[in-house]
Amino acid sequence: MPAVAKVLPLVTARGMPGALDYLDDSLAAVGTVVRIPLGRGRIVDGVIVARATESDFDEAKLKPVEVVEDRSVPPELTELAQWLADDVASTTARALGLVTPPAGKAKQRLWVRLADEDGPGGGGEDAGPIDDAEAEVDASPARKAPKLTAAQETLLTSLREDGPRPAGDEVARWRTLEKRGLVVVELADERRAPANHAVGSSARVAPAATEEQLSALRRISEVLAQDGGGSLLLHGVTGSGKTEVYLRATEETLASGRTALVLVPEIGLTPQIVHRFRERFGDIVATIHSGLSTGQRRDEWWRVRTGEARIVVGARSAVFAPLEDVGLVIVDEEHDSSFKSGEDPRYDARRVAAWRARHHGALLLCGSATPRPESMAALEIVRMTQRVDGRAMPPVEIVDMRRVPTLLHPTTREALTDARKAIVLLNRRGWSNFLECRECGHAWGCPNCDVTLVLHKGRQTMDCHHCGHVERVPATCPACGSVSIAQHGVGTERLETELAQLGLNVLRVDADVTDPGRLLAEFGASERAVLVGTQLVAKGHDFPDVELGVVLDADSTLRFPDFRSEERTFSLITQLAGRAGRGGDGHGKVIVQTTNPTHPAIVAAAQHDADGFLAVELAHRRDFHNPPYSTVIRLVFSHHDQTVARDLARAVMKPLVAANVGDVLGPSTLFRLRGKERQQIQLKVDRRAAAVEAVREALAPIERRAGQQRAQIMVDVSPQ
Ligand code: ADP
Ligand code: ZN
Ligand code: ZN
Repeated sequence: MPAVAKVLPLVTARGMPGALDYLDDSLAAVGTVVRIPLGRGRIVDGVIVARATESDFDEAKLKPVEVVEDRSVPPELTELAQWLADDVASTTARALGLVTPPAGKAKQRLWVRLADEDGPGGGGEDAGPIDDAEAEVDASPARKAPKLTAAQETLLTSLREDGPRPAGDEVARWRTLEKRGLVVVELADERRAPANHAVGSSARVAPAATEEQLSALRRISEVLAQDGGGSLLLHGVTGSGKTEVYLRATEETLASGRTALVLVPEIGLTPQIVHRFRERFGDIVATIHSGLSTGQRRDEWWRVRTGEARIVVGARSAVFAPLEDVGLVIVDEEHDSSFKSGEDPRYDARRVAAWRARHHGALLLCGSATPRPESMAALEIVRMTQRVDGRAMPPVEIVDMRRVPTLLHPTTREALTDARKAIVLLNRRGWSNFLECRECGHAWGCPNCDVTLVLHKGRQTMDCHHCGHVERVPATCPACGSVSIAQHGVGTERLETELAQLGLNVLRVDADVTDPGRLLAEFGASERAVLVGTQLVAKGHDFPDVELGVVLDADSTLRFPDFRSEERTFSLITQLAGRAGRGGDGHGKVIVQTTNPTHPAIVAAAQHDADGFLAVELAHRRDFHNPPYSTVIRLVFSHHDQTVARDLARAVMKPLVAANVGDVLGPSTLFRLRGKERQQIQLKVDRRAAAVEAVREALAPIERRAGQQRAQIMVDVSPQ
């Protein structure tokens, strides 16, 4: 009886057939990664998704698989990938690509230890609680042997004092000592540990919990203990101590023998929470995020897979960490848009987190000071309304910028020169985002996209922030030769320079800096500084001594024509306000510069009125049938040629309308991007799964044609 394995090739093409039959006599489990021949001489990776004893095809013609050592996907994650593919209208192969172990091998190194100690010291220099007992060694020079040379003595002493270490360049010397039975030199896996920046305040020792934290924890314990788990929304104002609640909930989960998954927004920007977890729990914390090297990613993944790490703290992709027996899934700053993936599969880590929590019967704990209306409507809410330090939220002053020609209002400038530590938010990178010839009006645009280029003065380039096109800064206008070029629109780079001219010590954090974690740490440690940046600076950091928060151009987020623009504006101001006036003498304050001083989202944020804002927002959403009262699905067809894109879109419109799943709008023209003309269709539906199915069916007949024409079709379910 042949052993048939149904294998899904890990190839990204849409419209691929599903699993294919192969032979596998080794009876490898479902989830095993294998190498398979596919078509003419092509060998690809695949995942066994099912087993069978017979095949519908001629078994004599089936090809064998080759099992790839060490690369199997846990069954839960195989199942998850299949669900995910349907949920976001992607393919199972692509979804499996998210859950297969990272490629690569362990790094090995020669280690030296004293002969009478056991095993290499493991991780080496990584932080975490260090056990001092290790330093205790047998120092008796009992062995009767020729005297050691001075150099050998030094090596041995260093080993006694500092513990096991890599042999480094001195392998030969160590080998001599090994022959005399004093040390052991051996190959050991060397962990490539992610960096761990110490940012902001410490939480090594748990502080006594506040009343509000205790009552939140009581409810959390109840749900943790409950069969089948549940879900809670921790709606706590900034500074209410949500992290401490997470830490304690995690502790409780570990104590019951289960593991914890903690998701945070993109981590290079929020290293603090990782740091706090490592401080409290040490090396059983693994971190997974986009900033890791391939080797670090592989090692962290395996630390989780082998059970060495029992807590995962990470960004979006950490939701696929191979934890077993999960008891707690935390989504911190659950309103953050970085939880949604921008590439196919366009998954939302918050939905995946909910799936995993359900699968394990775990508690899903979402937390935010500015929760999404979606979560307010769907989850049981646990509130924390007070700051831990008992201080009031800082007063927010709305500064009217109509008829103010300068970047900074005089009020803002004065406050900035007075403040010891301040954070200034401007949601635009670069020096200026619009260059125009004063003589002929020529504007510098991207050759590939219908957008203007952004001047980056430091590196002397003009960049397209959409496609990555880069060109040198022009000396003259290409249209008329004039040298008089106007720079409109101020970005963070220019803001940095202008503030430095006021004599301030400025640190800038945005997507253009390479190590935001280091800069944030530096800001945390400074006596006097201004932190300038895009929305990254408003995210969950906790610096106890920030006296002033400033939002410049608060209207920038309102200008997006999108039903989420008010939510985004409210959240950004509230989050930034939360960074000011903690600790210290507590006279924090916030300034919001706007040309829309009476806008409800801005006024509500200034009054710290999250409940009021969310109530109004939810009512609006209901009236306009927007999420959470519907699901939006976006289809984008792109091609060099507008007519090709339009024809494809039109061909899909008909069956979509006929499927009768909800409102179907379009096709409408989007701005040209990366050299492609684009047509969009947007659906607003009640039943997500049925609509995704309808979309797939509508796309199926044209997928082949689109492929031949080299047109692209993008489907985004619940776009952000
Ligand atoms: P949030 O995430 O709710 O904005 P944080 O978790 O960053 O708030 O906590 C704010 C500060 O309060 C941190 O410095 C934290 O260490 C401190 N903190 C939290 N809980 C307590 C407590 N019970 N007692 C004293 N300090 C606390
Ligand atoms: Zn010109
Ligand atoms: Zn471009």
